[in-house]
Amino acid sequence: MSDKRLTNLPKPQQMIAVLQDKQEFNPRYVELTFELKEPPTFEFLAGQYLSIQVSPEGERRAYSIASPPSLNHGFRFLVDFAPGGVGTSFLKNLTFGDQIKVLGPLGHFVVDQSSKEQALVFVGTGSGIAPLRSMIDDLLVDRQDKRPIRLYWGMRHESELFWLEDFENLNEQYKNFEFYPVISQPVGDWPLSTGHVTDMILAHKFEPQTGFYLCGRQTMIQEVTQLLKKKHQVNDSFIHFEKYY
Ligand SMILES: Cc1cc2nc3c(=O)[nH]c(=O)nc-3n(C[C@H](O)[C@H](O)[C@H](O)COP(=O)(O)OP(=O)(O)OC[C@H]3O[C@@H](n4cnc5c(N)ncnc54)[C@H](O)[C@@H]3O)c2cc1C
Repeated sequence: MSDKRLTNLPKPQQMIAVLQDKQEFNPRYVELTFELKEPPTFEFLAGQYLSIQVSPEGERRAYSIASPPSLNHGFRFLVDFAPGGVGTSFLKNLTFGDQIKVLGPLGHFVVDQSSKEQALVFVGTGSGIAPLRSMIDDLLVDRQDKRPIRLYWGMRHESELFWLEDFENLNEQYKNFEFYPVISQPVGDWPLSTGHVTDMILAHKFEPQTGFYLCGRQTMIQEVTQLLKKKHQVNDSFIHFEKYY
């Protein structure tokens, strides 16, 4: 492998974690905070995910780590409860102190730290914001990365948004960070952008050698990738993605 990021990935291991906090932003999106029991700490790269055992029969589901690697004694998930299958039902029914079996860290969706990418653009829809939050906290707060960083976050309704204040604070605090929330079906008086993340990618300009990191449903990833290649002449090697479903 020539990509240094991928040769330095931490080794996955079996872990046990305990539910410590549950923050219900709205009926659909919930943040779950776990503390590690065994081992007491772990290493991962921002953008990676964990595989959780969600049934006694051993069924598993993947959830991105939404917290940054500097928080190494536990992790946070951002879960979309809408699918309602075995994975989301398992997480929904957890109560404080419950233990979960975890395998990880897993995945290659991590930021290129070489000098190849001179600007970074993150595009997420729905719960696809989870790994992007970890990556952005890691870059801005922990690494003090000075590259221009932009986040486009698409959601259906404004009432479903969360972490808005956190991203707005980063926007104020870090001159190299720009945040664009976009709502496809606003119900009230939404003052910011309306439409889809693809509308913004179409309308905006990007510097050469920008790395793009896309996370969410397959159709969004395909549409944004097409736009980046056809409209903005972005080379494949600058486009990274994590497909949720
Ligand atoms: C690498 C990776 C990381 C992931 N990280 C997260 C994460 O951080 N947070 C999170 O909420 N989910 C995440 N997912 C999705 C998660 O693994 C499960 O697929 C999801 O929770 C649904 O599981 P389920 O068992 O409840 O539903 P299932 O019975 O597995 O699926 C039910 C149906 O819902 C669809 N579906 C799956 N996810 C969604 C969704 N978000 N919105 C609408 N429909 C959906 C499926 O395609 C399927 O048709 C991730 C997936 C992958 C591959």
